Amino acid sequence: METRLLELEISTDWRERAECRDYPTDLFFPAGETGPAEIQIKQAKEVCARCEVRDDCLLYALEANQRDGIWGGLTSDERKRLRRRWLAERRRRTG
Ligand code: SF4
Repeated sequence: METRLLELEISTDWRERAECRDYPTDLFFPAGETGPAEIQIKQAKEVCARCEVRDDCLLYALEANQRDGIWGGLTSDERKRLRRRWLAERRRRTG
């Protein structure tokens, strides 16, 4: 998946096809990542799992360094870990 993310161009129309457009925005912005928020995160991830623009969304969040919310099916902490590897890979590719 990370390799594919590096190859994707950032497009502007992916939001039009986002699965989450039919859900309350709050669902994707849980208060924390433990306790009651875990159920909310699970529900949000289920929506993301069905989303056809998941990779575009995740790439956008990595590029923009979005710190809050669920993007591309990943929590903030999950993206933080992925972003470190993604930046390192991008630096390696671009020299
Ligand atoms: S991956 Fe999730 S948060 Fe991103 S556009 Fe799709 S449904 Fe929305």
